[in-house]
Amino acid sequence: MLENKVAIITGGTRGIGFETAKVFAENKAQVILFGSRKETVDLALQKLEAEGLSAKGYAPNLNNMDEIEKVVQEIYETYGHIDILINNAGISSDKKIEDTTSEEFAKIIDLNVNAVFNMTKAVVVYMRKQQEGVILNTSSMVSIYGQAAGVGYPTSKFAVNGMTKSLARELGRDHIRVNAVAPGVINTDMVSSLPKEVIEPLVQTIPLGRIGEPRDIANAFLFLASPLASYITGAILSVDGAARS
Ligand code: NAD
Repeated sequence: MLENKVAIITGGTRGIGFETAKVFAENKAQVILFGSRKETVDLALQKLEAEGLSAKGYAPNLNNMDEIEKVVQEIYETYGHIDILINNAGISSDKKIEDTTSEEFAKIIDLNVNAVFNMTKAVVVYMRKQQEGVILNTSSMVSIYGQAAGVGYPTSKFAVNGMTKSLARELGRDHIRVNAVAPGVINTDMVSSLPKEVIEPLVQTIPLGRIGEPRDIANAFLFLASPLASYITGAILSVDGAARS
């Protein structure tokens, strides 16, 4: 479904991002995954290779515009086009507001919001030139209902939705589609680090009776990145088994 498409995926070393890299590579995209450290990027590339899939990887600091612009320019010069950007890297929190420092709050906003802006700004230069592109963001179900702890996290995902809807309007005339996927509770490190007392009551409230798998989200990204979604922009697609946090 993505033959000859060049796709950059941030947070591509594990969890949702890694599974998306896998699904995109299976669908013949040229995948370029970004991670926070060179070692984890190399490990992810080795895992893909072991499955007969090839990809490239980088570890730029997503809060350093100069580093990002350099890497994105290198990718554009290598492949001649950048078709898909998935802003997926993210961190969460489940701390009470009194226990959260302003530095911890800012750290979440730096990665979950500012890095999304930085990556999008760097890639849009080339997508406008091409008059074509797809930008996909990983939001969350907490961007719709909020969350009863870790206020920085839902705040960041509300901002992701705002960027998604606004940039869809700003970039539509240049044939650049911008959408987000809002996952529910997904079986990744981010969730396995949460205590059972948090997860179990959540599962009870999910009408589909299970938490989601990374592939559930990767498949949604595949659909939104593909020509099947050619008239979809500005959408926040819930993929959450109808969960309500
Ligand atoms: P994960 O912790 O398994 O993976 C996070 C990814 O982000 C990793 O690839 C990591 O390298 C990258 N990352 C972390 N800090 C970074 C930094 N400072 N710079 C660059 N990259 C960094 O998490 P996941 O569950 O796969 O989450 C991926 C996305 O999905 C996040 O945006 C998260 O908010 C969102 N999400 C997850 C769930 C869930 O239940 N797992 C639900 C809703 C939304």
